[in-house]
Amino acid sequence: MFVYADNAATTSVSKTALDAMLPFLTEQYGNPSSLYSFGQKAQEALQEARETVAKCLNADPREIYFTSGGSEADNQAIVSAARLGARKGKKHLISTKFEHHAVLHTLSKLEKEGFEVTLLDVHEDGVVRLEDLKAAIREDTALVTIMFANNEIGTVQPIAEIGALCREKKIPFHCDAVQAAGHMPIDVKAMNIDMLAISGHKFHAPKGVGALYARKGMVLTNIIEGGAQERGKRAGTENVAGIAAMAAALQESCANMEANTAKILPMRDKLFAELSKIPHSKINGSLEHHVPGTVNMCFEGIEGESLLLMLDDAGICASSGSACTSGSLDPSHVLLAIGLPHEVAHGSLRLSIGEYNTMEQIDHIIETVPKVVSYLRSMSPVWDELVKGERKHLI
Ligand SMILES: *Cc1c(COP(=O)(O)O)cnc(C)c1O
Repeated sequence: MFVYADNAATTSVSKTALDAMLPFLTEQYGNPSSLYSFGQKAQEALQEARETVAKCLNADPREIYFTSGGSEADNQAIVSAARLGARKGKKHLISTKFEHHAVLHTLSKLEKEGFEVTLLDVHEDGVVRLEDLKAAIREDTALVTIMFANNEIGTVQPIAEIGALCREKKIPFHCDAVQAAGHMPIDVKAMNIDMLAISGHKFHAPKGVGALYARKGMVLTNIIEGGAQERGKRAGTENVAGIAAMAAALQESCANMEANTAKILPMRDKLFAELSKIPHSKINGSLEHHVPGTVNMCFEGIEGESLLLMLDDAGICASSGSACTSGSLDPSHVLLAIGLPHEVAHGSLRLSIGEYNTMEQIDHIIETVPKVVSYLRSMSPVWDELVKGERKHLI
């Protein structure tokens, strides 16, 4: 059985998204900037997509800028707010310890340029406290950037409260909503969000397309210089096919959100219930404030990477939730941020499921994971020491 349980990493392209993009890869290949009507067809498609995306977020179409993905949107939002702040002598930026690297690495770049960065604690439950944010805000704070839902553990932040506080203090608030868009309701007006990043491939559109919402009045700094596309704020011939697909996929995900959530939750709850029966395991992050599909657990005495390889042999695509892309052996910064010791953080497993998964697939995971964990423990010198009492159990 093949089970794709890594939807937080990327998703399959839906039929709706594929159908929406195909005309722009075949007959309608005009450049939206061309003056003849053939190009204007593409321009119209862009405008329609902008309206659709805006509607899904309760924004104005003029507040939507198409980008190459979530990373670019995060970069542009953060750099824009930093440049704007610096012009007013404000060089303090606030974020959290468990943001995506698109946010964290942009902040470190700015730190090297002389900005000061405060990263808020996310506590054991993976949720930022409003008091902590209040205490961190200064006269010279130029930006608060806090993610909607965490990509590794799935915890959801009190975005509306954060937005209200930032609005009251007149500090721009950027939200990396890449894991939330299409999966949870987002209302940029009601939540007082000034800038927000989304990425198509996390909700069944293709990779390489995303959007930045920037509230009217926000001054954007270009990351990509060139032509006057996206009202002069993002140069480069538009990815018309990708943008059309993203709009269609977002609309579909938002229309089906309740039904999808109703399908996903019982599968997720079964995973949590059955996998927590494994001795010395731990669920990571609050279950109360959580996106529907993400499950993150730790199993003591094993290495997450070995677990993933053995799950792969059983047809299961999962992730350790750590920065395995770089092949680094460092444990996940997210799991360390919620206070897990290094040894425990190494044995992590992220399963992220979506509406295309089935209960049969969940049962296959539930059958496989305990066997693999037992097998790996039987070969683990660390587990041996734990069993002999030469080492203390941490979970
Ligand atoms: C995937 C992801 C990103 C990056 O989006 P890309 O489109 O892949 O650049 C940023 N933030 C979060 C939370 C993500 O999950």
